[in-house]
Amino acid sequence: MAERITGHTELIGLIAYPIRHSSSPRMHNEAFAKLGLDYAYLAFEVDNSTLEDTIKGFRAMKVRGCNVSMPNKTVVHKYLDKLSPAAELCGAVNTIVNDNGVLTGHITDGIGFMSALKDAGIDIIGKKMTIVGAGGAATAIQVQAALDGVAEISIFNVKDSFFERAQKTVKDINEKTNCKATLYDLADLDALKREIESSFIFTNATGVGMKPLEGQTYIPDKSFFRPDLVVVDIIYSPTETAMLKMAKEVGCRTMNGLGMMLFQGAAAFELWTGQPMPIAHIKEVMNIKY
Ligand code: NAD
Repeated sequence: MAERITGHTELIGLIAYPIRHSSSPRMHNEAFAKLGLDYAYLAFEVDNSTLEDTIKGFRAMKVRGCNVSMPNKTVVHKYLDKLSPAAELCGAVNTIVNDNGVLTGHITDGIGFMSALKDAGIDIIGKKMTIVGAGGAATAIQVQAALDGVAEISIFNVKDSFFERAQKTVKDINEKTNCKATLYDLADLDALKREIESSFIFTNATGVGMKPLEGQTYIPDKSFFRPDLVVVDIIYSPTETAMLKMAKEVGCRTMNGLGMMLFQGAAAFELWTGQPMPIAHIKEVMNIKY
């Protein structure tokens, strides 16, 4: 590291709170080192109260870009100059690119989800997906899946503050893409069972299954799954949630959130450096299995 960092090294940041647990710094720094790229990636504890100052500072310091995570993803757009079409549709930004002082917000979570499936040899184009969640990650997946050609998406969410956002997502998808989207209340378990039954893939895109909801799932029992269903949980810590465990017991093809994490990072990496991330190397050194 001491040899690698010079007066020319460019900074890429990660701004979120909490953030010390993140594996993104290791992933990006391993990739920079492997390709001999002169960047360093560092995590900064930034919440909404210090976000504006941080972005101003990044502009002043000509920082090349950053990743953005909670609680800043849905707020940071206020301080940027431009948004990618997907970030605009999602109302969330997880990657910022600084092109000579012009800051553009992107969202790579949806690309990460779709690329992880492709990498695992799972083709969902033209098929039906049922997905639970209406937060930043869920919206990004729903928008990207619709843009990429998934035929039908049934979205479920509890009737919390995210439900309204899902209504907007469904409207946007139906108006702006060829995908048919429908929204349901997660309390309607008959509808959930019916929609999963007619889907090729089922995805959890909520925090149910990770701390503080670790060990929990809203899937009542194994009869909701069948062996030829693909079941994805975008949670990556733990790597096997209660829902994935249940799906494995039924014999479903399953995938955890590590692949999405890897490929959302790869998409951001390419936006900053113009080069593809060395995926095989990163999988090996970080022991990423999904
Ligand atoms: P968010 O806060 O924007 O959204 C939270 C979602 O969870 C909402 O839909 C909310 O209604 C739902 N929810 C919360 N409590 C619930 C409950 N008790 N029952 C049912 N639904 C409930 O969060 P986010 O950023 O969208 O992240 C959601 C999950 O996705 C987190 O577990 C996060 O770790 C994971 N994630 C993974 C990746 C990846 O690369 N694999 C990327 C981003 C997020």
